[in-house]
Order: sequence, then C-alpha cells, then structure tokens
Amino acid sequence: MFDITTRDIKYLPGVGPQKAAILNKELEIYSLHDLLYYFPYKYVDRSRVYYVHEIDGNMPYIQLKGQILSFETFGEGRQRRLVAHFSDGTGVVDLVWFQGIKYIAGKYKAHEEYIVFGKPTVYGGRINIAHPDIDNASELTLSSMGLQPYYNTTEKMKRSFLNSTAMQKLVEAAFLQLQSPLPETLTAAIISKHHLMSLTDALKNIHFPKNPELLRKAQMRLKFEELFYIQLNILRYSKDRQQKYRGYIFEHIGKAFNEFYTKNLPFELTGAQKRVVKEIRNDVGCGKQMNRLLQGDVGSGKTLVALMSMLIAIDNGYQACLMAPTEILANQHTETIKELLFGLNIHVELLTGSVKGKKREKLLSDLITGNINILIGTHAVIEDNVAFSKLGLVVIDEQHRFGVAQRAKLWQKSIYPPHVLVMTATPIPRTLAMTLYGDLDVSVIDELPPGRKPIATMHQFDNRRESLYLSIGKQIAEGRQVYIVYPLIKESEKIDLKNLEEGFLHICEAFPQYKVSKLHGKMKAVEKDAEMQRFVSGETQIMVATTVIEVGVNVPNASVMVIENAERFGLSQLHQLRGRVGRGADQSYCILVTNYKLSEDTRKRLEIMVRTNDGFEIAEADLKLRGPGDLEGTQQSGIAFDLKIADLARDGQLLQYVRNIAQEIVDNDPLGVSLDNELLWKQLKSLRKTNINWASIS
Ligand code: ADP
Ligand code: MG
Repeated sequence: MFDITTRDIKYLPGVGPQKAAILNKELEIYSLHDLLYYFPYKYVDRSRVYYVHEIDGNMPYIQLKGQILSFETFGEGRQRRLVAHFSDGTGVVDLVWFQGIKYIAGKYKAHEEYIVFGKPTVYGGRINIAHPDIDNASELTLSSMGLQPYYNTTEKMKRSFLNSTAMQKLVEAAFLQLQSPLPETLTAAIISKHHLMSLTDALKNIHFPKNPELLRKAQMRLKFEELFYIQLNILRYSKDRQQKYRGYIFEHIGKAFNEFYTKNLPFELTGAQKRVVKEIRNDVGCGKQMNRLLQGDVGSGKTLVALMSMLIAIDNGYQACLMAPTEILANQHTETIKELLFGLNIHVELLTGSVKGKKREKLLSDLITGNINILIGTHAVIEDNVAFSKLGLVVIDEQHRFGVAQRAKLWQKSIYPPHVLVMTATPIPRTLAMTLYGDLDVSVIDELPPGRKPIATMHQFDNRRESLYLSIGKQIAEGRQVYIVYPLIKESEKIDLKNLEEGFLHICEAFPQYKVSKLHGKMKAVEKDAEMQRFVSGETQIMVATTVIEVGVNVPNASVMVIENAERFGLSQLHQLRGRVGRGADQSYCILVTNYKLSEDTRKRLEIMVRTNDGFEIAEADLKLRGPGDLEGTQQSGIAFDLKIADLARDGQLLQYVRNIAQEIVDNDPLGVSLDNELLWKQLKSLRKTNINWASIS
C-alpha cells in the first residue's frame, strides 16, 4: 500500500515523467490525491442515445450517433455559417457552426461514425444543433456511464494529448489503484448527524456520478468539508492571530500626503472617497493590523484612495506596495501614479516579469535599501527574492483575481504583517466576505465622481452589423475610441483566438481609414504593452481584444464598448467590461452583440445589463440568476476565493450552516484537546501546513 497524498502522479499508469511534468506545471497536480481533487467543471448525461426521428426542438441536450452526409456553407463574412447534414438512417438534422468554420471543416469528415451532443432547436422548419460536441464513436465509452465528466484543460495539455477524455481515463486509473477506502476527514459523528456521504464515495461520485442525485450528494459532502474547515480555522485561530500580530502604527500625516493633497490632487475627492480615506487612517493609526476590503464600482476612483493610503505609509517611514493582476494594469497604475505624484520627491518603481537583468538587480537593491517608496507590480512582487526594507502597506487591486495564498505571501515580506487593503469592483455580499475572512472590515465607495453620464447599453443581433458599424464610425469621427471584445474561454481557446483574428481582419476591412490594435493573452507582455500604449496615445482608434482588457484599464477617451458573443459572458464580467468606457465626460455606449438564438437565462442577463449600471444590483441579480446549478452550465467565472468546489455566490446558506457547527465545536473545545474531535484538529493542522495562507489569514 502507498499513501495517496504523497504518491507521485508520474507512477500512475498512462502518465510517466513527461505528462507528469505537464500536470505539475499546468494544474499543480503532483500526487494521486491532487488528481482525485481535480474536479470536473461540468457533466453531461450520456446514458442514452436518441434516434433522429425521436427528437424535437423542445428537448434539452441529447446525443445522437451517426454520420455526416455532407457539408455546406451559407452567407458571407460575419454572417457565414457551416452546416453539416447529419443522419443516423432515421432522419436528418443540421449541425451548425457560426464560428471556427475552417477548423471544424478540417477536423470532421463525412461518412465517419460520430457521437454528436447538443441542444436541438427548430430553425427554418428544420432541426438544428448549433455548435455541438462531437466525438469519434469508437473513442467514446457510452456503456455503463451515467453522467460524463468534463475537465478543464489547457492548450499545452491538449498538445500533449491530455484533453478532458484523457483526464477522465487518468482519474479512472487512479481509482483502480485504491485498494481500500481513503482515510476519513470528518468524524463519524458529523457524517451521520448531517447525513453526509463517505469521503471515498463522494470522490467517486464527483468524478463518475451514476445519476444527478448521487452527484448532488457528493458535491454536498465535499462542499461541506471545504467550508467547514475554513470556518473551523477562522473560529479557532482568529483571536490568537489578532493578539499575536499587532499592526504598525502610522501616527501622523506628513509632507507626502499634504503636498499631494494641496498641490497635485487634480480634482475634489468625492464624499465617499473622503469617508473611506478617513476609515483607513483610523485603521492604520490604532495599533491593530488593518485588513480591509474596499468595494467600489468600476470607475468609482479606488486608485486615488489607494495612493493616498500609500502616502500615509510613506509619511511614517514605511514603503508601500501595490499589486495588480495583469501587466497592463500594473503598467497603467504606474503611469497614473507617477503622473499624480509629479514634482513630489517620491520614488515609484514598476516590477513585472518583463523587468530583467541589470534593471531588475538595481530595482531589487533599491527596494531593500529603502530607496523605493512605492513598488507597483504583478505577481512578480511576491517572488521570494523580492525584499523590502520596511513594508508597511500592501494594496491589492481587483482582489478577486488573486488567490488567498498569493496574498499571504505578501504578508510574509515584513516582520509584522503589513496593513492590507484589498480593492475590488465585484461586490461581495458583506456577510459572505466576513464569514470567509474572519475579521475583515469592509469599506464601500458608493458614489461616482461627478459629471459622469450613465453609459447607454444596447443589445443588438449580429445580423445588424451595418448599423452598428455606422454608429461606431460616427463616434470615431468625433475623436472617440472604440473597444471590440471577443470571449475567450478555456474549453476552446483555439476557436476563440481564431474568432478574434477574423474579427480583427474584418474590422480592418470595415474601417480602412482608421488604425486598429489587437490584444490577447497569448501575446508577449512587451507586445501587449506596446499595443496598449498605441491605443492609450490615440495612435489607434479601435482596440480588438479578448478579455485581457477586462480588468481596470483606464482610457477615458474610449467611449464605445462592443462585446461580441455577449451571451458567453457572465453578468459580472459584462459589467466589468462595460466599465472600461464612461470614464470621461462624454456620453459612452456599450453594445452587446449576440446571435439570434438565446436561452431564457441569457435574455434575462442582457435585459439586466440594458436596464441598469449599478454594480451592486447586477451582482445581486447574478446571484439570483445563477440559482442552484444546472447540470450543463459551465462554472461561471465570478467570485472565487481559492475554493475548489464550494461557490460563495451559491452556497451562502451552507456556509452559515457549517459555521454554526464549527462554532459549537470551538465553544465546547476551545483549546482543541477533546478526544472526540481528535480527527478534526489533526486534519485542521495538516491543512494549515499545506495552505500557508490559512495560518496567516484567518
Ligand atoms: P476604479 O475604481 O474603477 O479603479 P479609477 O481609480 O480607475 O476607478 O478611476 C476612474 C477615473 O475617475 C480615473 O480617470 C480617475 O482619474 C477619475 N477620478 C477618480 N476620482 C475622481 C474624483 N473625485 N473626481 C473626478 N474624477 C475622479
Ligand atoms: Mg481600478
């Protein structure tokens, strides 16, 4: 027997050193245990194959087995679609693609046996399945399986033949290696009292559920466990932590802050900004370590609050660090802040992955000697060799993009943990945030700077491109700039990138008199910056991009945001994207482009976007709309705090439930010594060891 927590993944049949290296790098899967905890992101019911003559347009997702008789293309340009006539001998359905046409036409062949999976609809009197999943019939094991798991994989993995099906096979192999049940991680008392599945059954059913009911029970058990230990950790240790770590005291406001305020501040602060700065001043002056979440809708002016907080740190002899989730954003913050601090004697530097060689050496030595007052950067600032002289304040922008572990690493760059301000435009219900973080305080900027015109949002079908381009052209002629954004999801990165490239060419053709920028995540950081810079400076008028521009980017002259395939974005993401415009005094527009066929859910999402600009209202609607999970739905991007399976948006009730259980245990056994709970305390200790963040953030 071996211990699955430590058994190296490379020894699993079908893996080997090469694939192991990829699994390590791409998914952080090192052991069999890690693999078993890599959960599918969706399931599809593949227990039954339908005949073509049985299906109609009202059915949910179904699968068929048969052959493509022939391909046909219709339409021109963006209207183009590829149709494959598919038959199993009982009738014909049309498989339809609006995107990635070349790729699809090259990949699938007529007269081969395929399993087709998708949602039938009736269009023009014929049954259509748009963008179906297609597998070679010979490769798919239909047989006994109920719900088939789908695993997220990356392009790199796919290139090494580690696609979702391959991941599924590996998980199957891992279960074959288990000779006995896994050691339990919850006590028998808890399991029986709350009617939970055993750990082994839960893991088996999370990967290979025989039916939706068993899947639900497996999810329940694993979510329960995940949230329970987070709560147990917070409740058992947060008092300890508060006593152990006192905060640095920033007693006074000095030259840096005052000079900035009187000489450089380009506008009057909004009432909300003033209030929040005051709250922060109180926090950092009182001897407690600040751990504050700053929520403010896109465009509400969080950067300025961050800067003023950093100036307070500098006035008290400390350094400050601002961490942003992307290079583009880190760059932009640096420029904005340098400009705001112009003429003041404050040394600001930027550290990203592209700062290398001599320049990096110099920067690192200036940092440790205290020559640098403010360090702005990406993940690069948490690397081990980055050391500060006296780090007093850490600001983390767009925090929902960062893992808790990364935040904890920043804490460890100082003798005492520095004060922490995390900023986000994604409203997190206060109760959820507090239960998850323990003693986190929350500030809200609930007021936009004056003079902003609300962004006008419209929904347009993609067959009305001409009028869309006309209005875009008008805006550009008036000197404005335009974003056009394409979705990028993991499942089909290749097709998505192709869409972007095609869209780019198409836009270049449609607007020959203007210059067009292109931006996506696969570009090198320097290229991205150069392209962004061209847009910021006004050299290019149109920016065609993927969601890399979603977070924080600020180009006040841009007044139109066109979102292609808007149906593929979640509400929060649409709102973030929309927030890229409406930053200047001019009227701005957001145009959501979709094709004609929309699900009920999508229609509602788009309606909400058209109706309101209020981020909090949108977040609430988002929570409601998502509901308790549909089987087909891919996991929505949204608020995720390093949780593997629980979802704060959906599992608020469960969170409260397990918190009460944990509270009772801590009340009865505050020192963690009762033998009844031995298993729980042992498990908590081991979690605190593997999650460094658990020990510091609670
Ligand atoms: P976010 O909260 O989304 O990070 P930013 O900090 O990027 O917003 O601010 C958005 C824009 O509003 C910036 O161009 C900034 O200069 C401007 N701004 C911030 N505060 C004010 C204010 N009090 N009055 C006028 N404009 C402001
Ligand atoms: Mg911002």
